[in-house]
Amino acid sequence: MGAAIQKKVRQFSATYLIKTVSECFEKIPDHRPNKCVIPFANFPKSAFAMMHQKCDSLLAFDEERLDKVCCHNLEKLYHVKDGMVPSDTRMREVLDPVDPSGHKTPFKKLLNIVQRNGALKGFEFKCGKLKDYYLLPVDGTGLFYSGTCRCNDCCIMNEGKKNEAYYHNIMGGCIVHPNQKTVLPLAPEAICKQDGTKKNDCEKAAIRRFLAQVKHDHPQLKLVILLDGLYADNPTIALIKKYGWHYIIVAKDGNHESLIEAMNELYDQGEVEHHTIVDKEKNTTHRFRYANNVTLNLQDEAEQVNVLDYIETDKAGNSHVWCWVTDIELTKKTVESVMRGGRCRWHIENQTFNTLKNQGYQLEHSYGHGEYHLATNFAYLTFLAFLVDQIQELACPRFQKALNKPAKPTRKRLWKKITCLFLTLMIDSWDALFKAIAHGSKSLKLEFDTS
Ligand SMILES: [Zn+2]
Repeated sequence: MGAAIQKKVRQFSATYLIKTVSECFEKIPDHRPNKCVIPFANFPKSAFAMMHQKCDSLLAFDEERLDKVCCHNLEKLYHVKDGMVPSDTRMREVLDPVDPSGHKTPFKKLLNIVQRNGALKGFEFKCGKLKDYYLLPVDGTGLFYSGTCRCNDCCIMNEGKKNEAYYHNIMGGCIVHPNQKTVLPLAPEAICKQDGTKKNDCEKAAIRRFLAQVKHDHPQLKLVILLDGLYADNPTIALIKKYGWHYIIVAKDGNHESLIEAMNELYDQGEVEHHTIVDKEKNTTHRFRYANNVTLNLQDEAEQVNVLDYIETDKAGNSHVWCWVTDIELTKKTVESVMRGGRCRWHIENQTFNTLKNQGYQLEHSYGHGEYHLATNFAYLTFLAFLVDQIQELACPRFQKALNKPAKPTRKRLWKKITCLFLTLMIDSWDALFKAIAHGSKSLKLEFDTS
């Protein structure tokens, strides 16, 4: 293997990725008034380790933290200085007031690693004249809901009523591609009360902050933003255009009546184009109906959009219907790519939120709510652990070997194996850990410590 390739491979390893994350944590200012024994960065590093090890609870983590094996591994694998791991109570207290934006920096650094080592190339979205563009589905999801527990960040439902309740949502977005199994999340944006306001936050406001952050972090990145019908409005489209990006947004009958009417009128006038593709291999038919320059709605200065109606009929004769608005010019040559891009919006639901909630990461689990930003900080760290794993799955041969070791590989099995070794054996490096999983390690007999 050449030196340049070796360097690339090294940068996709857990060793390099987690070192990068740790260096970002070391730059978060320590808010504690007195000099303390445990270095401040050990708090986010330990919390990140807990998320990355998919620990069910802070308590479970607390029970292991004094074990010498756990301390050794936290120091060697997660850079927790001198193995000084904070207790669960102290972890909550110290992380609660930390400004969550400090936990966003690693996302930018990690994507830069993917980009500068050429692994982002596999996500390029090719469509007509578009070159070097990437698909970015963005959506919100629920994080926390309670009738009793609340913090300063909580949005309030039914305020002042008997059934008053508190909640946090989160806005997530990741770079995806129709042919890629992995996704690359960018820094998420909490949908929660903003400093100095009494008003509840909402998805429409959060997406503006999210997109501004993306533009700030990655000014040169060319994006096609994929959104649900909720965002098919003039201000969101204008904002995307202002940033120099493109969009493919779902249009729904209920939300876009005038648009559907305009399409029907054009259809009656014979001004709607048609295109059909038959996929003989899969026995599937793709029917496209499209028109360019249609007025989005009846509002003043409404955006002109291109509309794509699409019906897929599978081999059993079942039909599925989609409709999108986009600013990508629709022609016979582009409609299929726009359709494949538009359908990738589901990757934020299926491959991101669903994985984060049900595949070991426990995004909705309450590790502690705190008074200020604890819930948000834990959520950001969960997304970060997911990103580190996704980059390795995409491009780290050592990780891929460990994942694909059994005949039916699953991520859950790998997480279980990693945690099991992490809790029982002193491990000096991530390379050694993945090598042991991929090649198998020597059987050890249970022995009591009689010292
Ligand atoms: Zn809260």
